Amino acid sequence: MTGWWAMSRRPPKAKPKKTKRTETQRAKDKSDALFSKLIRSKGHCEKCGRMEYVQLQCAHWISRRYAWTRTYEDNAFCLCAKDHHWFTDHPTEFGRWAVGMRGESVYREVLERSQRRDKFDWLAELERLQGRLRQQEADV
Ligand SMILES: [Zn+2]
Repeated sequence: MTGWWAMSRRPPKAKPKKTKRTETQRAKDKSDALFSKLIRSKGHCEKCGRMEYVQLQCAHWISRRYAWTRTYEDNAFCLCAKDHHWFTDHPTEFGRWAVGMRGESVYREVLERSQRRDKFDWLAELERLQGRLRQQEADV
């Protein structure tokens, strides 16, 4: 049973206070977007050769959850949506294909880099990627 005193109480706030995104988080988001653009600018699926830009995606070899290899070019392939999806469902085949493409030594290097535990500087990374894209546009 609740009485009038309960009814008169203010309802609880609908949402917890949103914490402001930090500069680092914003730099990480922007870096993700620029990195994807950089990878997709290869212009074709590295598996099947499809070229429709809207179909192209940035596929990570080693999971995106590791900061040190999240925007590392040796750790990403440009794949069409279909192949990306298929490889996501078949990680063993993806691994085998990727090693065939880049070689065992690149894989080891990327793997080692992904395991780094020191802090990753997203602000510096954003600057690096912006530089890479500018350089690429200048080359075309
Ligand atoms: Zn493809």
